[in-house]
Amino acid sequence: MTDTSAPEFGTLIGGEWRSAAEHRENISPSDRSDVIGRFAIAGIGELDLAVEAAREAFPRWSRTSPAVRADLLERVAARILSDADALAELLAREEGKTRNEARGEVTRAAHIFRFFAGEALRLTGDHQDSVRPGVTVTVHREPLGVVGVITPWNFPIAIPAWKCAPALAYGNTVVLKPAALVPASAAALARIIEEEGCPPGVFNLVTGSGALIGDALARHEGIDAVTFTGSESVGVGIAQAGATALRPVQLELGGKNALIVSDDADLDIAVACAIDGAFFATGQRCTASSRIIVMDAVYERFVTAFRERALRLRVGHALDPDTEIGPVVDAGQLRIDLGYIDGARAHADAIVHGGDLVEGSTAGHFLRPAVVEGLSASAPLNREEVFGPVAGVLRAEDYDHAVELANDTPYGLVAGICTTSLARAADFQRRSDTGMVMVNLPTAGVDPHVPFGGRKRSSHGPKEQGTHAREFFTQLKTAYVRP
Ligand code: NAP
Ligand code: MG
Repeated sequence: MTDTSAPEFGTLIGGEWRSAAEHRENISPSDRSDVIGRFAIAGIGELDLAVEAAREAFPRWSRTSPAVRADLLERVAARILSDADALAELLAREEGKTRNEARGEVTRAAHIFRFFAGEALRLTGDHQDSVRPGVTVTVHREPLGVVGVITPWNFPIAIPAWKCAPALAYGNTVVLKPAALVPASAAALARIIEEEGCPPGVFNLVTGSGALIGDALARHEGIDAVTFTGSESVGVGIAQAGATALRPVQLELGGKNALIVSDDADLDIAVACAIDGAFFATGQRCTASSRIIVMDAVYERFVTAFRERALRLRVGHALDPDTEIGPVVDAGQLRIDLGYIDGARAHADAIVHGGDLVEGSTAGHFLRPAVVEGLSASAPLNREEVFGPVAGVLRAEDYDHAVELANDTPYGLVAGICTTSLARAADFQRRSDTGMVMVNLPTAGVDPHVPFGGRKRSSHGPKEQGTHAREFFTQLKTAYVRP
């Protein structure tokens, strides 16, 4: 069914919005009759033009004064904040997180641009004496060139922001390929960047299929680096392409994040952390707490309170002010979530609380949060990334067993512990084999000014965000000078 009344969006290439031959409808997961727009399905020809435009723009942009780049990023940040209500509504409509969650994400995107506006002016180098008399050595950072940016659907504006802002701040040019499910937020961001005075070709947007133009972008001879957030399988392919081309690749992939509820935890805090970490944003966060590891002594008390609170969460339309949990992003993801839940139901030892479809007043993908007890640590639901509102609960005999379970995963993005013991908090901080650790906080919800990223199969390459972002988005040069 094609809704020809929905607005049509093209690609942004070399500073021009170009109409496309083919479009894909962007449909709200809260209401399948709500068509947000028709978005360009770019082909290889358009991708080539975008890369060429970015290549042409690079020499000049890389040599602009850092003040010019800082000013652009600062204007983008201010504009995102002044348009925040409209951007949040658009984001909630297309991705399904609640309006409040979407507002938080939009604000975060603005804060990221603001942070990197400052970073553009803060890029320092070293100057030292050579071991050879009369010679000096400088070590400084330069941009990489054209950066290919490939982003997932679950943070439609924040992830493009945290990749594009540092890329631009340090003098790179960008070709952004957002996820096909959420092109509207990316197009809105592109419009803001363009309208706030970004020179033509410095930032380019191509929407379309990952398998076609995502893959072609990752392999394109005209790019100098790729930063990707998404699934592990696609990430591995991008790393392989990067290795063949000997190009820097940065990957942020999946997670199977543990939250330990220690026997000395404040259980109100623990329940609040588990509810937020497991179910907010419909559990569709790479940092979601999908394994809740509870020590034996508090198991019954914690799990009773956790599942009661989970079953009371109001599931519904993302824009309904009473909604606490929005819809699952699309029919495909809903099938995946239900597959894990049904697999658990079929298991004799498992108890599944919730996990049923919710009838809404609109045709949306509404799923009640699921709390699943009794499965082993090796069951698929406790092992693989579900990426939905599904939490597996595991019982730990003691603290050491809890830590062992937490680390027993191929992933290593983030882990959390709820405890009132400073010694245990400090011990877990050391022993957790993850890039990030949370104490008495949900595993999801991070700051924009400090490094973000994981270990093991969760991440590859330098960390994102904060000052450390420069480690990916710049390259070092060492110069020896005899005056
Ligand atoms: P995905 O299927 O891997 O897609 C991510 C992006 O890659 C999309 O833009 C996609 O385009 C594109 N793509 C698909 N196939 C490609 C290919 N062969 N070559 C190049 N690009 C390709 O992931 P998703 O379904 O959007 O997002 C969910 C995943 O992202 C989860 O695994 C989650 O853990 C991960 N994630 C990780 C983080 C983190 O920071 N660690 C944050 C958020 C999400 P299409 O949309 O057109 O397919
Ligand atoms: Mg996908």
